[in-house]
Amino acid sequence: MSNDAPVKKKRKFELDPRLAAYKGVWVFIEHERGQVHPVSWELLGEGRKLADMLGVELAGVVLAAPGDDGQRFCHDAFAYGADLCYLMESPTLQDYRNDPFTRGMTELVNTYQPEVLLLGATTQGRDLAGSVATTLLTGLTADCTSLTIDMDNRSLAATRPTFGGSLLCTIVTLNYRPQMATVRPRVMAMPERQKGRGGRIIEHPLAMAEESIITKVLDYIPDDSRDKPQLPFADIIVSGGKGLAKQENFQLVWELARVLSAEVGASRPVVQAGWAELDRQVGQSGRTVRPKLYIAAGISGAIQHRVGMEGADCVIAINNDPNAPIFDFAHYGIVGDALQILPALTEAFRQKLA
Ligand code: FAD
Repeated sequence: MSNDAPVKKKRKFELDPRLAAYKGVWVFIEHERGQVHPVSWELLGEGRKLADMLGVELAGVVLAAPGDDGQRFCHDAFAYGADLCYLMESPTLQDYRNDPFTRGMTELVNTYQPEVLLLGATTQGRDLAGSVATTLLTGLTADCTSLTIDMDNRSLAATRPTFGGSLLCTIVTLNYRPQMATVRPRVMAMPERQKGRGGRIIEHPLAMAEESIITKVLDYIPDDSRDKPQLPFADIIVSGGKGLAKQENFQLVWELARVLSAEVGASRPVVQAGWAELDRQVGQSGRTVRPKLYIAAGISGAIQHRVGMEGADCVIAINNDPNAPIFDFAHYGIVGDALQILPALTEAFRQKLA
């Protein structure tokens, strides 16, 4: 190419002045029966970074019934980094229902105009995010694995797996506000709780009559998932992959996990083969985990597995193929036969921890 070749200049993006009025980062504070879902605090931690990059305030949004302790949720949100909270209280907001929550959230957005709105990719958050985005005719990026601000145009750059998880793509919503994103629990780090940190509460009523809502809560059946494996919150996870060759060998994963008081995880082919329950699957179509220690035995490290566990503080990989992708991101790698190494580790830890 000659030196005289024209240099392509990046066109400066001009935000529509009506959209430029949207300011601030919001996080939906999800709660049920007096308990805030921890993903809300994780999102406040991430929202704080985005708000600081933009030089704007971070707000929590609490939609609750009068007896629900909404004020307490707001004060908890301040401790996790919010500058202010929008508190909407109405008897119609008792227990989650799509109609009143969508109406409440869209009314708050239209009144106070945030530029970014984050929700947990939970059952409730996914349901609400979709209907709010559709009602507001704005963009929503679901199940994000990272969020940042593109400082060239001050837009939210939301990254998520695509094409079956084989690629990560970054999506921006340039011409619509608010820019919405959902993030699965444990994808973002839990921020430090700052005791005594304060903030402002802006109360906003919801004028909605119960008679206008077609869904009715007839009964409440508690979630029995507490009796199921609690992988997302485990400190130590020992996970097994298809490299263990057969179901009997998966027992070696259980034995090491028992000695370390760890949870047991698995890759998808292991779950598909019936060696482990679905609740133990780690990855894009399973659980996202964030343990202090993740031991992966006979797992190749495919991107769909990696997105579910790369938030671990320390990853130890055992694989007999020195070129396995898992060694690209593991902190420690053991090249060898997992069928020999797992029992050796179990025995060594048993002696050490005795
Ligand atoms: P393999 O790919 O078969 O790898 C086995 C590994 O074990 C190899 O690296 C091999 O070198 C090693 N090995 C073999 N023998 C031994 C031995 N004796 N000792 C030590 N190492 C040994 N996968 C998930 O895990 N979670 C998901 O949530 C998930 N979601 C998906 C969603 C979609 C839409 C798609 C398309 C795929 C998804 N997958 C998911 C599948 C993913 O692409 C991989 O196929 C899967 O992670 C591979 O599992 P694996 O590493 O156990 O098995």
